[in-house]
Amino acid sequence: MPERMKNKSISVYLLALVLCFSIIRTGYAESTQTTTWITLETKYTIIRFLKAEDLETFSSSMAFDQKFWGLKQLFSDKSPDTLYEEVSAKVDNLYKRVQEILDMRKKSPKVFINLYPDRNLLDQAYFQIYQSRNNIRAWYIFDSNTIYVNINDVHEGMLAHEMAHSILDHFLLVRPPAASAEILARYVDTHISR
Ligand SMILES: [Zn+2]
Repeated sequence: MPERMKNKSISVYLLALVLCFSIIRTGYAESTQTTTWITLETKYTIIRFLKAEDLETFSSSMAFDQKFWGLKQLFSDKSPDTLYEEVSAKVDNLYKRVQEILDMRKKSPKVFINLYPDRNLLDQAYFQIYQSRNNIRAWYIFDSNTIYVNINDVHEGMLAHEMAHSILDHFLLVRPPAASAEILARYVDTHISR
């Protein structure tokens, strides 16, 4: 009888240990998925990124105002301030251009731009939101007013397109129908570099 008791308590102990271990494991898995963003607030946007190198890659993907920034990039020592200034100017100039093309200059809430360092992390972010496989390169969500892009697969036209969605969705009292908004956003990205 005492022997059985002992066995029972050992199994309870083992069960507790297993449970405890799985709780720790879950906790660990969750903590690795939580993204720790660095933010850069510009006049029209709030950019979120994981490390300074990502912001630099993003900046070189944005060929907007190439003549001006190309020259500055060549000579700058890329101190964090220089990089922040450069990215802010590029993103804000682009945003202003989109407002001009749409002729929608009203002040709207700052749009968040989440910069993912690779396709894998972009896809993970997509999965966390939609619980399905991602097959798009960038997207915008109205509820959080957030643009999602991969720094290695973005250009000014793509970002302008997603910015257009944010501007269109905030300009009128009622959000425009999805199809009309898409037509206008496409018009913006094809006209941005002209
Ligand atoms: Zn679109």
